[in-house]
Amino acid sequence: MLAEHAEFGVNINSVLGSGINHPQDALTVANRAVELGFTSTLGIIHDGTGQLRPLSELEQSIYTKIKNLGKRSYARFDKFQKNIVQAQPNDWRCRAGARYLYICENGLVHYCSQQRGFPAIPLKDYSRQYMRREFNTRKSCAPFCTVSCVQQVAMLDNWRSPQTLNPQAAGNSTLVRLQTQSQEKTEVFAK
Ligand code: SF4
Repeated sequence: MLAEHAEFGVNINSVLGSGINHPQDALTVANRAVELGFTSTLGIIHDGTGQLRPLSELEQSIYTKIKNLGKRSYARFDKFQKNIVQAQPNDWRCRAGARYLYICENGLVHYCSQQRGFPAIPLKDYSRQYMRREFNTRKSCAPFCTVSCVQQVAMLDNWRSPQTLNPQAAGNSTLVRLQTQSQEKTEVFAK
C-alpha cells in the first residue's frame, strides 16, 4: 500500500551484526524494499557501548550482496561501513554534542545513545557555547564507533577544526562509558 499510495519517500533500514540470529533476513528485507521501489539502507548494529563487534563471514557476504543491490541502496556510498565490516578503525571527528544531540527521558543532552553522561546538561540550558565546546572535543570512542547517523552528519566538516578538548561530564558519572582507544581495541579484538 505504501508503494502504491505514499506521497513521501519510504526508506527501509535493515541491520546486521552483534548477535542478530538470522542475518540473512537483512538481505530478504533489502531485496523486497528495492523491488517495491523504496530506498534501502543497511545499519551495522553496535554493542551495548556503541562499539564495533567484527562481522562474521556470513554477515560480510550479506553486506556485500546488499551493497550491490543497486543505486537505490545508500549502503554503497558508505565508506564508514566498509571499514566497520572489515573491523578497521575510522579516522573521523565525532561532532556529537554539536551537530548531533541525544536527549534522554530526563531532558538531558548527551553525545549519543551509547555515551550517556557526557555532557549531561539540561536541554533548556544547552547554549551555543556548549555546542562550540563539544564540536571541538575529541571522543575517544570514535575509531570503532558504529553510530552511523552521527558519522553521517560529521562528514559535513570532518576536514576542519581539529579537536583539542577533552570530554567533560556534568551528570551522573555512573552513566559515563567513554574509553581510551587502547581499551577499545583490546576489547574489540579479544573477541
Ligand atoms: S564516537 Fe560519538 S557517536 Fe560514536 S559512540 Fe562516541 S560519542 Fe557516540
